[in-house]
Amino acid sequence: MSPGLDAMLRANYPLIFTVKRAAPRDDFCIPDSQRPIHARGFECGDGWFDLIDALCVQLQAATKNGAPQVVATQVKEKFGRLRFYSCGQNDEQEGMIELAEAISARLCEVCGNRGRIVEDRWLRTRCPEHAQSLFRS
Ligand SMILES: [Zn+2]
Repeated sequence: MSPGLDAMLRANYPLIFTVKRAAPRDDFCIPDSQRPIHARGFECGDGWFDLIDALCVQLQAATKNGAPQVVATQVKEKFGRLRFYSCGQNDEQEGMIELAEAISARLCEVCGNRGRIVEDRWLRTRCPEHAQSLFRS
């Protein structure tokens, strides 16, 4: 993800992406310093920015209403889909994450337009335009 959008997500959702917890819960989550989101940022294209943003709005709204604080460990593309690895979520928040991951398979990872999973050497989600450029390169 481009640095500006990466920084925007971190700034807008510090409890999910950046803040170290006061009392680490290493029983269910890897230590804060080892969370890949710190070192590598969002390992996916800009086309999923709005999807991740909308997911975070919903996760934080649930937290405001009494659900646990979700802490992201890694956010990446894998097999053409968004993977939002996290800890702390309850079943409702897990459902939100699963829905966002499912929707990612229908949104171009490059531009966010409607897309589908295509295969070159890898599985990727692309709109028709970006699928073409994938096969030309
Ligand atoms: Zn596209």
